[in-house]
Amino acid sequence: MKAGGFSVTLIESPDIKIIGVGEGTWPTMRSSLEKMGVSETELFKQCDASFKQGGKFTGWTTGGEGDAYYHPLMLPQGFSQVNLVPHWMRGGRDQTFCDFVTPQGRLCDDGLAPKTITQAEYRGSANYAYHLDAGKFAPFLAVHCAEKLGVRHVLADVVQVNQCASGDIESVLTPQAGEISGDLFIDCSGFHALLIGKTLGVGFKDCSDILFCDTALAVQVPFDTPDAPMASQTLSTAQEAGWIWDIALPTRRGVGHVYSSRHTTEEAARESLLRYIGAQHRDLPVRKIPIRSGHRQTFWKNNCIAVGLAGGFLEPLESSAIVLVELSAKLLAEQMPANREVMDIVAKRFNDVTLYRWGRIIDFLKLHYVLTKRADTAFWRDNVDPATVPERLKELLTLWKYQSPWFFDEFDRLEEVFPAASYQYVLYGMGFETEVIPEETVDTEPLATRLRQENDRQTQQLRAQLPKNRELLNKIHQYGLQPI
Ligand SMILES: Cc1cc2nc3c(=O)[nH]c(=O)nc-3n(C[C@H](O)[C@H](O)[C@H](O)COP(=O)(O)OP(=O)(O)OC[C@H]3O[C@@H](n4cnc5c(N)ncnc54)[C@H](O)[C@@H]3O)c2cc1C
Repeated sequence: MKAGGFSVTLIESPDIKIIGVGEGTWPTMRSSLEKMGVSETELFKQCDASFKQGGKFTGWTTGGEGDAYYHPLMLPQGFSQVNLVPHWMRGGRDQTFCDFVTPQGRLCDDGLAPKTITQAEYRGSANYAYHLDAGKFAPFLAVHCAEKLGVRHVLADVVQVNQCASGDIESVLTPQAGEISGDLFIDCSGFHALLIGKTLGVGFKDCSDILFCDTALAVQVPFDTPDAPMASQTLSTAQEAGWIWDIALPTRRGVGHVYSSRHTTEEAARESLLRYIGAQHRDLPVRKIPIRSGHRQTFWKNNCIAVGLAGGFLEPLESSAIVLVELSAKLLAEQMPANREVMDIVAKRFNDVTLYRWGRIIDFLKLHYVLTKRADTAFWRDNVDPATVPERLKELLTLWKYQSPWFFDEFDRLEEVFPAASYQYVLYGMGFETEVIPEETVDTEPLATRLRQENDRQTQQLRAQLPKNRELLNKIHQYGLQPI
C-alpha cells in the first residue's frame, strides 16, 4: 500500500456483461450515494430511478382473497421508546399492524411519493430507497467514480491471476492492459468468482435446503400509457412454487418470477409469469437466470475480498444483495488495513461480521416462508418442514410467542441489515401471535396512545401533502431537486 493513501483500479471486461438485474435497493443507498457525492437528480434522470417505500407481499399467508401485508421502510412510531406490538395486540387489531404504527402503508396504497419537490436531494418526509435500472446504474457509478473520485477504470479481461508463495495475489494479467499488480484485490467478477473461487479455491456454502428458489424468469413490461400510475413499493406476489416481483420504473416495469425448479417446471413458471403480466404482453422476451442460493465459506482470504455476486446470492425477496455490497464497501473503507501485517486481523473481523450478516438475511428470508398457512402445493408445505428452518430462527420463533422482537433482538451487531422492526412487520403482517399479559402494557399505555394519535395525525397530513409518485418524478426530471 502506498504511504499516505491508496489508489483504486477498477478492471472490467469490455465483453462480459453485468448481470443487469437488481432493481430494488435499501434506504442505505441514500447515505452511500450522498457520501460518494452523487447527485440524486442525476440518479433519477440517468438510471430511470423511482422511489421505493417498502414491499407489499400478496398471497404469502393464505393465498386467499385480501391476503396482503406491507414491510414498509419507516420504523414504527416511537420505536426507540416503546414497543408498540403488545399495544396493537391488545387494543389495535381493528387496523393492520403496519397502519397502527406507521403512515407508510397508506402512502403506498395511495401511490404517493415519499417527499415533495421542495425537499432537497436525499431528504424526505417518509423513509425511502430506490427502484432503478441496474443496467444503467453500474455504468453511472463507474463514470462518477472515475471522474469525481479518482478511480482508474480499465476496460480489460482478466485472463490469468498470479500468486506468490504465500498464496497472496500479486497481479492479474489482461491482454488489453498488460499485467496489473496490487496490494489488495476485490473480487467483483459476479457469479464467475474469478479470484475468490477459481484462484483461491474458497468453497461455496449452498443454502438451497432452506431457500428453495433456484431460477428467475425476468421480463420488462411497458406501461399501457406514459402517465400510468406507478407503485412506490415492490410488489411480491406468491405463486404456486415461488413468487413474482413487480417493480415500477418511470419508463417500464421490471417483472420476474423466482421459482423452485424442484417444485415446478419452467413451462408452468413461464405460464404463471405470462398470466401475471397479461395476455397483451405474451410476446415480450423473457430472460432465464439460474440462481444458486448461498455464499462463500469465507469472504476475505489472503489479500482478496469477495463482494457482490462473487460472495454469494440469495433470492431477491428483500433486496438484500446491493445493501450487502454497500455494507462491505463501508466496512472496508473504515477498516482498510494499513499494511500486510495487519491484514489478516482485519480480514478476520470482516469475515466474522459478513458471515453473521448472511446468516441473518437467510433467517429473515426464511421467515417469509415459514409463517405461511398455505398448504396448497408441495412448495409451501416443504417450506414449513422444520428440517428446512435454521436453528436460530426456530429459537427466535419460540421466543417471539411470548415476547415480540425489539431492540434486544438486534443482538450484538451494529448495522443489522434488517432491524427488529422488519421482523415485526413480517411477523404481524402474516398473523403471528405473541402472548401479551395485561400488566405488560400498563406503564406504557399513555405513551402508546399518544403515538397512535400522532400516527393518525401524520398519516392524514402526509396523505394531504405528498404528490403522486409519477407526478414528483416528472417534476424531478423537469426541474431537478435542490442539491444539498
Ligand atoms: C434475478 C435477480 C434479481 C435480483 N434482484 C435484486 C434486487 O432487487 N436487489 C438487489 O439488491 N440485488 C438484486 N440482485 C443482485 C444484484 O443484481 C447484484 O448483487 C448486483 O448487480 C451486483 O452484481 P455484481 O457486480 O456482483 O456482478 P455482475 O453484475 O455480474 O458484474 C460482474 C462484473 O465482473 C466483470 N468480469 C467478469 N469476469 C471478468 C474477467 N475475466 N475480467 C474482467 N472483468 C470480468 C464483468 O464485466 C462485470 O462487470 C438480483 C440478482 C438476480 C440474479
